[in-house]
Amino acid sequence: MNVRVRYAPSPTGLQHIGGVRTALFGYFVARSTGGRFILRIEDTDRERSDEKSVQDIYDTFSWLGIQWDEGPDVGGDYGPYVQSERSDLYREYAQKLLDNGDAYYAYDTAEELITAREEQEGKGSGYDRRFRDMSEDEKATYHNRGIQPVVRFKVPLDGSTTFHDSVLGEVTWANEDVNPDPVLMKSDGYPTYHLANVVDDHLMEISHILRAQEWIPSAPLHVLIYRALGWEPPEFCHLPMVMGEDGKKLSKRHGATSLLEFRSAGYLPEAIINYVARLGWSYDDKREIFSKADLEQLFSLEKVNKAPAVFDYKKLEWLNGVYIRELSSDALFAAVLPFMQEAGFVSAPPAEDEARVLLGAIPLIQERLKYLKDAPILLGFLFGEPAAYGPEDLLPKKLSAEETLSILTAVKPLVGAVPGLSDEENEQKFRSMADEFDTKLGNLLMPIRIAITGSRVSPPLFGSIRLLGEESATERIEAAIQLLESQ
Ligand code: GLU
Repeated sequence: MNVRVRYAPSPTGLQHIGGVRTALFGYFVARSTGGRFILRIEDTDRERSDEKSVQDIYDTFSWLGIQWDEGPDVGGDYGPYVQSERSDLYREYAQKLLDNGDAYYAYDTAEELITAREEQEGKGSGYDRRFRDMSEDEKATYHNRGIQPVVRFKVPLDGSTTFHDSVLGEVTWANEDVNPDPVLMKSDGYPTYHLANVVDDHLMEISHILRAQEWIPSAPLHVLIYRALGWEPPEFCHLPMVMGEDGKKLSKRHGATSLLEFRSAGYLPEAIINYVARLGWSYDDKREIFSKADLEQLFSLEKVNKAPAVFDYKKLEWLNGVYIRELSSDALFAAVLPFMQEAGFVSAPPAEDEARVLLGAIPLIQERLKYLKDAPILLGFLFGEPAAYGPEDLLPKKLSAEETLSILTAVKPLVGAVPGLSDEENEQKFRSMADEFDTKLGNLLMPIRIAITGSRVSPPLFGSIRLLGEESATERIEAAIQLLESQ
């Protein structure tokens, strides 16, 4: 079988974890089977679709490095790949259903018309099928009142519909539980999701429909439409829900959900791909780390779980750290650069000196960085003044202002000498100095750290001083001394 999988987003909002999971699973199924991955924009809901959401689809997947083989931007033999450009096709098949008696005109007035949206969301319309068996004469009176009809599908009143799902197995629905006679064509001449989706999946020769489990109630209806048009439905693969840790559907309340939010929070695309690929799929019960290239080979639908997946932000954070540590210095430099620029610490393009300092700082933060966004927080002091601090911040526990003052005065030349010595040599010198003051090394380093960085948490101190240079480092110690003296 020619595997052809599509991602069919409606551009009615930002790309979020659930949608991206569907897309990635589809992409990996296509890659691992030598099939094709297709992007189709389902913009039949004209009120809710917008250009910004379309752009977000492109931005999200280009950031993730996921490319489709066919789609609006790359073309293909089955286009157009945007539903609003395919209206004639939907009209043609709606007409076919009307001609065969599988669909009928309904002259629902505004209040009676249960919106296509509600039906699409699977809420069930409870529609009373009032026009289904109405005589043409009676319908004419509505027509004459100028009411634009919709086209509704005739769902069989009894019997049942069965489809095969790669994840759920055989699924059977009683037809009386199928959405009663949903709208196929709206009065504005646009199709609903149900008709457009079926027509396109058939014409685009889609082999597997991957989508979230919330679409299950639509599947029997779609199967009925396929059959009415004389077509074989594709294989369905309804993917498990993605939940927050409280067991409720993942949403804003749980944290970031839109992909570009994860990007601005400083996640690497590699970490997102790895994490999202594991939401409802596992290779075995041990392995956690999968590169995109691994998944392109190893992914298979047989290993998709039925049970809901839980989105664990902590685990994603851990994975992000794993991938940050795997980057080369140059790659991490490139990854943190936009964050440094956005924070105003580095110009665009970076000046020579800024680039040198930032590249030098990479080894200092690579081990500890959780998110790229933390880079300016950790490194800002190398590109501008240290964070503001008060005299009391300089005092180690149990040491007075006088004691701290004499420590800072004594270490000033040592700080100036740091860039010329190795870490070991520096440590030895500071240690003997601490002994002279009969205090712990930590008590000696703590006020220096504050003076240099403005923060108790910083990259390794000697490396930081080395990057800052003798002059600025000594000046900062001097400023701290003056602050204490002024008290
Ligand atoms: N346009 C639908 C959505 O955005 C696609 C559902 C499907 O894949 O059939 O969720």
